[in-house]
Amino acid sequence: MQKKRRQWVFCIYNNVAVGANYLIEKYKYKKIAIIDFDVHHGNGTQNIFYDNEKVLFISTHQYPYYPGSGSEKEKGDFNNVLNIPLEAGTSAEKYLNAYENVLNKVREFKPEFLLFSAGFDAHIDDPLAQLQLSSEDFYKITKRTLEISKSFCNGNVVSILEGGYDLKALQESTKRHVDALIEFD
Ligand SMILES: [Zn+2]
Repeated sequence: MQKKRRQWVFCIYNNVAVGANYLIEKYKYKKIAIIDFDVHHGNGTQNIFYDNEKVLFISTHQYPYYPGSGSEKEKGDFNNVLNIPLEAGTSAEKYLNAYENVLNKVREFKPEFLLFSAGFDAHIDDPLAQLQLSSEDFYKITKRTLEISKSFCNGNVVSILEGGYDLKALQESTKRHVDALIEFD
């Protein structure tokens, strides 16, 4: 088991972790996938579920970068963590190729419920980080994720807004993400 470390975090409450635990405790779900596409590694979420085989945690993030964690070597006690570190300057094309690994892992895990940690700070206009996604790319990744997860968790999808520090990029990206969620049937 990973030693729980003290870490600096952006948020006081980890909404997606509260949601996942609620689904497990109250509705007895046994397989929940959390996809965290915020540009920062989801260190808090990873830490909370590192030793919980009911939760698959996947994070794509700039690396090395704040908060420092998120290497490929961090895999969870049940191989239930997948980190996809991406170097500063990673293009949208390269990101989308890497995202195939997210989709493969979701296919393999077959979640009953899917949660997005939807941060939009991997946008090219974001002042905090250096990945190069466009607003449209958030539509693409949402659409692809919903398509492949449809047969396991038909409609059981909740998305939770996280980072995004360029207001125009945040507005556009969120809209495109929600468009894909609305189109899902
Ligand atoms: Zn972030």
